[in-house]
Amino acid sequence: MEIKKAGSLAGSGTPSDAQLEKINRLTKTPLTREQVYVFSVHLCDDAVDRDFEQFATQSLPKLAELFVGKTGICDHEWSSQKQVARIFDADVIRDGTTSLIQAWAYMLRTPQTQDMIAQIEGGIKKEVSVGCAMAKSICSICGKSYGSCEHRKGQSYGGQLCTAILSEPVDAYEFSFVAVPAQRQAGVMKRKGGNCMKLEDYVEKSQDSSLVESLRGLQREAELGRAYRKQLEQDAVRLGLCLDFGADEQLLRTLAQQLDDGALQKFCKGLQGKVSMLTEPVGQLPEMTPPKSEFGREFMI
Ligand SMILES: [Zn+2]
Repeated sequence: MEIKKAGSLAGSGTPSDAQLEKINRLTKTPLTREQVYVFSVHLCDDAVDRDFEQFATQSLPKLAELFVGKTGICDHEWSSQKQVARIFDADVIRDGTTSLIQAWAYMLRTPQTQDMIAQIEGGIKKEVSVGCAMAKSICSICGKSYGSCEHRKGQSYGGQLCTAILSEPVDAYEFSFVAVPAQRQAGVMKRKGGNCMKLEDYVEKSQDSSLVESLRGLQREAELGRAYRKQLEQDAVRLGLCLDFGADEQLLRTLAQQLDDGALQKFCKGLQGKVSMLTEPVGQLPEMTPPKSEFGREFMI
């Protein structure tokens, strides 16, 4: 699967001798210190992102290796004149409890890159989007391939948050300088399976107020739908326990979570019908049928 993530970069300047040596391993003709500009890039880390996904810590060194030699472009446009930078070194470093890939990239100092360098130096260009391919996505709760089990990302199971752990790096692609608002700095920009962009990202990018408004409306409705689904799941457990047919609370909960929306509604309806039947009040007197008269209209005037 293809993964896109957000990273950040920091200006640096002229390369050290060791850095220049690494740069020159990638170039056809050796460059001098004056010809290049280097900067550092925070490519990705093993923290849980807002999509409840995370890179496996042990995958980071391999991924870092794959990024060396990859180019940096503007806004994902893959054409030679847009390839402005290249990663010449990448390593995994620790930042508190997080492991992250810190890469170093260089850019040729030319009239064309002058603006870009000024923007990096000035902190205007400080975000990048990186792409890579990972072979495996594992459920953090049960260790099965994500999607093959009943756990869902972002939900808690026995107090443990379910995430998809991405491992086994296959390839690393270009990184892009992206123009994104500052509040998205810690966010994630990601594409899976080619050009499939998330709807929220698409709408946000479009900056079309009517689209944003209609998405908000859908999100509110979805919220309501999720609340209704939760209520149904609770009803299924309550009614199931009420009927006492041998399934305990945990089993009923698991069953309810696994049913799709339609089946869950039917299940609840069925249980409710049974409960009503068993709890319907029964009259103490035998049913009285009014005596039939000859005409049936004695009291009619
Ligand atoms: Zn699972």
